Amino acid sequence: MRYAKVVTPSQMQLMELVKPFIKEQFTLVFEAPVVSRTLGLWGKVDAVALTKSESIPVEVKLETSPEKLKKMALHHIVQVIAYAVAVEETFKLPAKRALIVSVEGGTAFEFSVSPALRELVYRLSKELWRVVEEEKIPRPTPVKKRCSACFYRKFCSRL
Ligand code: SF4
Repeated sequence: MRYAKVVTPSQMQLMELVKPFIKEQFTLVFEAPVVSRTLGLWGKVDAVALTKSESIPVEVKLETSPEKLKKMALHHIVQVIAYAVAVEETFKLPAKRALIVSVEGGTAFEFSVSPALRELVYRLSKELWRVVEEEKIPRPTPVKKRCSACFYRKFCSRL
């Protein structure tokens, strides 16, 4: 394993959690800036594991148990899949899977970047850009409990 730069203790922990999932030599790039032209999105991924044949986005979450991690809300999954697409386009290596890691909880699991999830992310990004271009505020979610943790609470017409 190679490190892309000097690492902190929590990054060392992250590396130890990632290692069992990657059977070959890899480089871990921390806080990797990524961009997707196809989605029209960019961002910074917590880490990306690069092998000769694949790029694997690594997303760090605060949840401390595997059960909680596996029950992640859809928006977290969508975020990770969007990162996977951006990682693939940035590093020019296929992203077939993603890793979700809780450094605090010492747990990690992987899930497949499936064609169905990719399709969902492409559809949502088109919808996002349509909203931006038409300057139309999207309808509130029918699932009210989502609002309690929403970043846009302050601006939303529902509240
Ligand atoms: S607060 Fe508004 S934007 Fe946020 S989830 Fe609820 S309806 Fe959606």
